[in-house]
Amino acid sequence: MAEYLASIFGTEKDKVNCSFYFKIGACRHGDRCSRLHNKPTFSQTIALLNIYRNPQNSSQSADGLRCAVSDVEMQEHYDEFFEEVFTEMEEKYGEVEEMNVCDNLGDHLVGNVYVKFRREEDAEKAVIDLNNRWFNGQPIHAELSPVTDFREACCRQYEMGECTRGGFCNFMHLKPISRELRRELYGRRRKKHRSRSRSRERDRRRSRDRERSGRF
Ligand SMILES: [Zn+2]
Ligand SMILES: [Zn+2]
Repeated sequence: MAEYLASIFGTEKDKVNCSFYFKIGACRHGDRCSRLHNKPTFSQTIALLNIYRNPQNSSQSADGLRCAVSDVEMQEHYDEFFEEVFTEMEEKYGEVEEMNVCDNLGDHLVGNVYVKFRREEDAEKAVIDLNNRWFNGQPIHAELSPVTDFREACCRQYEMGECTRGGFCNFMHLKPISRELRRELYGRRRKKHRSRSRSRERDRRRSRDRERSGRF
């Protein structure tokens, strides 16, 4: 019996534990879910809830018409956001193994950022500190997340461009960063130190952005 329960833990057959919370770290029923959300007491992964704002979703003018934010502008805005958060996490708390941002529209997933640290201690430190901080004029809500395997949390149809549930899908729709930024952030694992001119340029850009938007 115990073996059977272990084999179905966190799956749809498990009538006690919520499979969505277990796999995705968020469930549309929230605290009212009829199944258990087992919040981890330690994890490598933290979730920053509802923190990324896609300008294409929020840019509506007073008459209800969409201000045109082109796909190129949106990608630039997204890459800047991603780089800023990723760099901040590594500088303040420790090495990041992987970071992902949801492009879903449902309240429980919209704008969620998941940061998987190499060390659990760093994740713990980050959660405590981030809950006392603000981002873009909003208090940050950070928590330890049960998600460690993002392949289990992701919507496979979305990755193939075939998800028919759109933004309200209950699996993660992870928004890709540009190839250049991916190479810069993850590629230096092998190179360890980024070239000085590149990071100086980035610092200049970041201080400029900070003046403009007053983030973090
Ligand atoms: Zn649930
Ligand atoms: Zn989907």
